[in-house]
Amino acid sequence: MAPQLERLNTEIVSCRLCPRLVQHREAVARTKKREFRDWDYWGRPLPGFGDPHARLLIVGLAPAAHGGNRTGRMFTGDSSGHWLMRALHRAGFASQPSSDHRGDGLTLTDAYITAAVRCAPPENTPTPQEIATCGRYLAREFALLPRVEVVVALGRIAFRGVLVLARTHGLAVSKPLPTFAHGARYVLAGADDRGVLLLASYHPSRQNTQTGRLTRPMLERIFRHARQALRE
Ligand code: SF4
Repeated sequence: MAPQLERLNTEIVSCRLCPRLVQHREAVARTKKREFRDWDYWGRPLPGFGDPHARLLIVGLAPAAHGGNRTGRMFTGDSSGHWLMRALHRAGFASQPSSDHRGDGLTLTDAYITAAVRCAPPENTPTPQEIATCGRYLAREFALLPRVEVVVALGRIAFRGVLVLARTHGLAVSKPLPTFAHGARYVLAGADDRGVLLLASYHPSRQNTQTGRLTRPMLERIFRHARQALRE
């Protein structure tokens, strides 16, 4: 891990800027879920993880209360993580198709995973203020990942977060704003050659996967497109 990214991650892990989220993440870590009662929950903000030379950046919404907030790694220990990792594995970005815990041997190649919000929010719903507050870390992370060419936004909130991020980094965002739809693609051009391709995807939350709104082939197609775009 590059030293600057490591420093940023250390800073993120000790952040307490959002009182409601601090209270929630720590309360969940204390009370736990029955099936995980033997776990020592992480209960802190989650840093991003993956390949510091990544050309693909994946932006999720926020850690799940008993997923990332328990295991200490984004998209790890819950069904969203399994869905995502299987799709990443099939596209050649992940070393294995599952994501169970921090010591499970998973590595990402050419991909980095992060989120719009780093602390598990009640009802999986951060407030606009919390999203804005946590956006500072996404912006700094993006600046420390200079090779990123393709961004996959998982869900509407992540998609909006990426548009804000793009503006901060001088990438051209059209007016009216690009609209979120699964499979939508937008080129955000930069004045300094740092343009990125933004791909929108439904989030692999249970709400989407159990209702059939998002199927495995739909998610896998997104990462095939990402792979194809990186080849081009
Ligand atoms: Fe800090 Fe982000 Fe967690 Fe808020 S959501 S406390 S800004 S890490």
